[in-house]
Amino acid sequence: MTKLEQLKQWVMQSDNIVFFGGAGVSCESGIPDFRSEDGLYRQQYRYPPETILSHRFYLHHPEEFFTFYRNKMLYLDAKPNPAHQKLAQWEKEGKLKAVITQNIDGLHQAAGSKEVLELHGSVHRNYCGKCGKEYPASYIRDSQGIPRCSCGGRIKPDVVLYEESLDEDVIARSVMRIQEAQMLIIGGTSLAVYPAAGLIRFYQGNRLVVINRDPTPQDDRADLVIHGKIGEILGQL
Ligand code: NAD
Repeated sequence: MTKLEQLKQWVMQSDNIVFFGGAGVSCESGIPDFRSEDGLYRQQYRYPPETILSHRFYLHHPEEFFTFYRNKMLYLDAKPNPAHQKLAQWEKEGKLKAVITQNIDGLHQAAGSKEVLELHGSVHRNYCGKCGKEYPASYIRDSQGIPRCSCGGRIKPDVVLYEESLDEDVIARSVMRIQEAQMLIIGGTSLAVYPAAGLIRFYQGNRLVVINRDPTPQDDRADLVIHGKIGEILGQL
């Protein structure tokens, strides 16, 4: 049996799949990841992206933060690829219970997924720091300099920056989903960002699948490892 056939059989037999993913899931939609050869972290800026995407930088250099954010984090024309679509289909069929994602692009929801746990927030939610008024991502894209609310306050994207903590409710729900999962598929993530990557230790089953272009720290522990493009792989199921 090939690895793909094995995966197909496990998916067919399962009614409680949980998917845990990262930036690699959206690469085939044209959004670069962070750590690949051509990823965001390899590109040259005055500061490294980890610095620009930190809470301190956001507070002290907001203009530069928003220039980088608009150029490198907002891909509002991107469309879901076959990976997003297959996961949404499995949820509809009652096979998949949740998508837990480190991505902030909203593409799982665009594909039709309902139970999406966004560990690092979403570019699609933006709030005024002063009055709480909500703004769409297009408002941030189309504004210049620091995006301002009608009340004069600064608008902050609801994305988790370095030095900021993750939403406790999202973490608790993710842990519960992973603990209860029959099959856990990890895909498109280097598993380098904590605490998000640490959540998969809560999986107790014997169908841990890793689908990633490059090796990950969980490959040794996994019951099935497929190296390749996740959209191409899930698209064949
Ligand atoms: P990462 O950049 O550290 O790792 C991406 C992984 O995906 C790599 O291991 C790479 O081998 C793999 N990959 C790339 N293309 C792939 C493909 N087509 N199919 C399968 N695997 C592929 O990303 P990460 O682990 O998610 O952590 C980075 C952080 O970056 C996260 O916190 C996330 O919030 C943020 N991020 C989000 C987006 C987005 O929302 N789309 C984009 C870039 C970064």
